[in-house]
Amino acid sequence: MLKQYEKINILGIKFSKLTNQQLLQQLTLDLQQKQRRFIVTANPEIVLYARKHPEYASVLRKADLITADGIGIVIGSNLLKNPLPERVTGFDTLKKLLKIAENQQKSVYFLGAKTDVLKAALKNIQQEYPNLPIAGYHDGYFKSADSIAQTIQQQKPDIVLVALGFPKQENFIDQYSIGSHGIWMGVGGSFDVIAGKVKRAPVFWQQHHLEWCYRLIQEPSRLPRMLALPKYLLLILGQKFKLLK
Ligand code: UDP
Repeated sequence: MLKQYEKINILGIKFSKLTNQQLLQQLTLDLQQKQRRFIVTANPEIVLYARKHPEYASVLRKADLITADGIGIVIGSNLLKNPLPERVTGFDTLKKLLKIAENQQKSVYFLGAKTDVLKAALKNIQQEYPNLPIAGYHDGYFKSADSIAQTIQQQKPDIVLVALGFPKQENFIDQYSIGSHGIWMGVGGSFDVIAGKVKRAPVFWQQHHLEWCYRLIQEPSRLPRMLALPKYLLLILGQKFKLLK
């Protein structure tokens, strides 16, 4: 059963007001009850993309829960005077889900990233979670999504982590998770981080909400993507202004 969390509308995307702990409680219950769940962890870039692409926005509307992956979303909720409690990131959720899965012997399917990245990530995951049941895996550069989806369905995994980046990962989940149980979550570049190809910001940077800056230093090619942030904040002010009128 999905608890009815209060929602806040940020530029047309409805984020659930929940903490990391509440999400994990919900997902633990879903695993026990063999529910299907579609989880999106969204950042400002995703919100802006959905504004421009109505078909993606309608896919996001089908998600069970949308959480704040980036600090920009939490800032947006504060500006709108309807604060989200905290960031609930795909990466943190993934790590905690793997621990739960190992403890409860729930199986996980890993889809996405380049072959060498995926293999390196799986090696590190097996070291950190030696008793984790791995239902299967496939890199994210496949020809036929249909046949990958068929393989996943045959394995009947309890958790499917889809690391194809947006919008591919949410589109894949929307199209192929119907009719199967399991927690399906898009996890973006998380396998690259687990593989050690991309470093996650040290805790200090995370706590001071500078993770985006750390990432930019590591991958300067992301600059054009990050320029979306000022635009996003201006649009939030626009939404706020309309609310005040
Ligand atoms: N990716 C993939 N197949 C594709 C496109 C991307 O598997 O067709 C992978 C890519 O290798 C990377 C992840 O998806 O591992 C996207 O990472 P990115 O950092 O862009 O995602 P973000 O965390 O920003 O959503």
